Formats: sequence, C-alpha cells, structure tokens
Amino acid sequence: MKKLRLLVIKKRVLYLFILSFLTLILTYTEYKPITTTFGELMAPICIINKKVFLDPGHGGEDPGCNDPRLGIYEEDINLKVASKTREILTKAGAEVIMSRESDKDYVLPKALRGDMTKKRCDLTTRISIAEEGKADVFVSLHVNATRKRSYAGAETFYNPAEPDSVLLAQNIQKHLRSIPDMTKRIPKPGNYFLLKNASMPSVIVEMGYLSNSKEKELLVQESYQEALALAISRGLIDYFKDCTLRLESPSVTDVIAIQKPKVAIIIDDLGHPYNKGVEEIMALHKYPLTLAVMPNMEKTVEHALRAEKNGFEVLIHMPMEPEYGNSNWLGPGAIKNKMSRQEITLNLRKALDQIPNAVGLNNHMGSLVTQKRELMLPVMEFLKENYLFYVDSRTSEKTVCRDIAGEVGVPYTERTLFLDNQYDYASIKREILKLGQLAQLNGYAIGIGHVGPQGLNTAKALADTLPLLEEQGIDLVFVSELFVEQNPFKKTISDG
Ligand SMILES: [Zn+2]
Repeated sequence: MKKLRLLVIKKRVLYLFILSFLTLILTYTEYKPITTTFGELMAPICIINKKVFLDPGHGGEDPGCNDPRLGIYEEDINLKVASKTREILTKAGAEVIMSRESDKDYVLPKALRGDMTKKRCDLTTRISIAEEGKADVFVSLHVNATRKRSYAGAETFYNPAEPDSVLLAQNIQKHLRSIPDMTKRIPKPGNYFLLKNASMPSVIVEMGYLSNSKEKELLVQESYQEALALAISRGLIDYFKDCTLRLESPSVTDVIAIQKPKVAIIIDDLGHPYNKGVEEIMALHKYPLTLAVMPNMEKTVEHALRAEKNGFEVLIHMPMEPEYGNSNWLGPGAIKNKMSRQEITLNLRKALDQIPNAVGLNNHMGSLVTQKRELMLPVMEFLKENYLFYVDSRTSEKTVCRDIAGEVGVPYTERTLFLDNQYDYASIKREILKLGQLAQLNGYAIGIGHVGPQGLNTAKALADTLPLLEEQGIDLVFVSELFVEQNPFKKTISDG
C-alpha cells in the first residue's frame, strides 16, 4: 500500500515536472517581437507618395518551398509578410502595389505564352504590372530552402549592374540583420531573371530558410512575420532617404556626412587549422571585417561558414605563386606559373565551390603570378562571370591586376597597408592608426591583417584601436561597400 502511494506521488511529481518543462519550452520558443510601433514610421517625408511594388513570390500552381505535412507553404508566408509590409508602408504615406493578394499565378495557357516557360511567363507579367503602375522599386519576397539544414538567416539579392538595386538591398539587409537572433548575412549579387528584367531598382528578399527547423518555426509566427515586415519597411524608408539626400543640393553638413572617410579591414589566411587568432578575430563580430579564407585547407569550409554566420564578409584568399619566398606557405590548389587557362579556371572553380559565400577574391602571395597577363586574364574572366570583385593584395610592384580588371570589367580595388608585417602589438596599433589617417586624406583606405604567428596581437590591436577610428568619425565598412560609391558595376557589366 505504502509502496503504491509512493508510486502515485512519484507519478505526480513526474507529471508536474513534464508540465513545467513544456511550459518552459513554450515560453522560450515563442518569438519575442521587437516593439512594432507603426506610428514611428510615419515621420519621414521621403517615403510619401513613393510607389512600392511588393511581390509575394509564387502562388497558384507553384507553392514555392514547403512542408506539406505541417501545412507550411512559402506562397502563404510571402503573402502574409507582404500584406503586413503594405500596412506599415501605407500608414507611412507610401503607395503600395501588390503583385497578388490571393493564392494565384500569372501563367498563361500554352497557346498564348508561346515559347515562354511557365515561370518566365509568370515573372514577366509581374514585372509588367509593376511597370504599368510606375513603381519606384520592386521588392520580391521569398523563403529559401536548401539541403544544408544548418543554413539560416534572411538575405537580400540585388542586380550588380544597377547601383540603386545595390543600395536598396543594403538598406533592407541592414534592418533584417538587426532582428534579434537573426543569422547575420550580407546583401548579395543575384543573377536572376527578375532582377535583370525589371526596369526599376529591384531586390529579392529571401526571408529565411524553411529547411532550418528553428527558422521554420519562426517564419510561421505572426510576431516574426511582423518583425520581418518592419525591417523591410525600415529598409525601404532608409533607401528613399538616401535617394532624397543624393538629389538635394547637399548642405555643408550633408557633404561631411556623405564624405565620411571609410576604412575596410581584411583579415587574410583563414582556413588554416593552426593559425593563431582565429577565435579572437571571430569575436570581433561587431565590426564589419572582411575575412579572406584560403581554399583546400582543413578548416576552409568551417571558417567560411562561421565568418558568414558571425556577420563578416567573405573573400576567397587565392594562393598564387610568389617570385621569391617560401613556396611551402603557398598551400594546395594554387595558381602557378605556366598553368593553362583550363587549370586556372578549374582551381578557381574548386575554391568557389568550397567558399560559395565569397563576394570577392584577393591574392595570397602571388608576386610572380600577378605580374603575368596571361595568368591574370583567366582569373579576371572567372571573377566577372561569377560577379566577384578583386582586391589586389599588391605583393608585387609590377602587378598588372588593375589594368586587366579594367579591361575585363571586374570591380577592382587594392590594399593600402599591411597592418602586421611587424608582429608586435605596438607596431600593429600604429599601422591601424596610420590607416585611419590615410582614409582621412583619400576618402578610404584598405588594411590587411593576418591570422597566424601575429594573429593574437592583430586581433587585440584591432579590438583596442577600431573604437578610436570610429571616434575620429571614420566609417568602418566591408570592402564591398567601397564599390557602391565608386559605382564600378554600371560601366562594366552588361547583361543584355
Ligand atoms: Zn595570405
């Protein structure tokens, strides 16, 4: 009898325990929205009467990515976020046109659409609705899915040939990144039919990954959809603010605001398993550092993924043969003297496959290869094809990279200073401050530091000195942000 009572008590305790555990889980998985005070968005004048075309992707025959067992369809999420965005923007004074307000598509019957595929017919119609409505911008909303289940985070794609598309993507992505717990991704060039064919600045916002179980839960929550809508709206308002600022004849204070000197810092030699300072650099995620990852190394994939997850920009750090120096440092898969065009392209392809989130490439060593036209030409052609930019590390005075990048039409920039050629903390700090002075003089400056023997000192010097640069009114930026104002894409990429 006593034994039975004990068992009953034990059972009760167990139930109680399970119940409280479940409550705990429920409380913590409920997404905590950032305060959605719609009113505060009513202030800016720049948005009033602007025509925003919102395109909830998919619909009708095409549900987009989905999880039918749970009844989750991309087309529904896209439409819900679009409707919430419309509500916010309309209250702020914008005019919003939607491509669809129900579960429909724009696929014409075969006889009418001729050679066009269903998808192309659908997209072409959406574009013409936006054009007929004289929309100022085209924002297409989507949800992503991939076989890599760890992938998460919203990302915005732009047309690299259209500077306003880049600006719009940057503004939207900036606000998406600030949603609590969001995986911090950066805006990316996208080779999409819609981006290339819309006649107004256009972006595609992939609001998250349905293939990631945690993000799937968030994407169907109304509070999270509201947070997404608010971020997209804020991005649009900032974009129109930037456009207005550019149009008005700038006052003196505006000129100073626009001409804030910019410093971009690249950290080379990630991917190597034993290089020092990797953790310390990864911990500097509040700064927009650009991390250059070597291909074919033990930690290549891991470092490239972690870099992106921590909100850094990623470059391929491509090993290229040096004129002198220790060729042991070169690493596997390098571009070497006397290689054929095919070999070079293959090595670059392999590198990009391992570091698919790269937005550009810089050279590791390469004092010999960067002098040779016949070797750099296939490199630049590969970059152009894949919408990547080139940063010349300038390991040789006789580099031909700038000329060839110009000929081929690849956005190009180059290192201003190496920050840690001398390994000690004091020297590195001095170089970082010098970089700031050069930015004040020239408008911008690019510094390269390293993980490796000096990695710990470099990370510490950056942590201590970057706040000083910010105090001096310097804008710390990703390398890619230097291209937007120079606007190199417009002249160079013609998609036809
Ligand atoms: Zn290197």
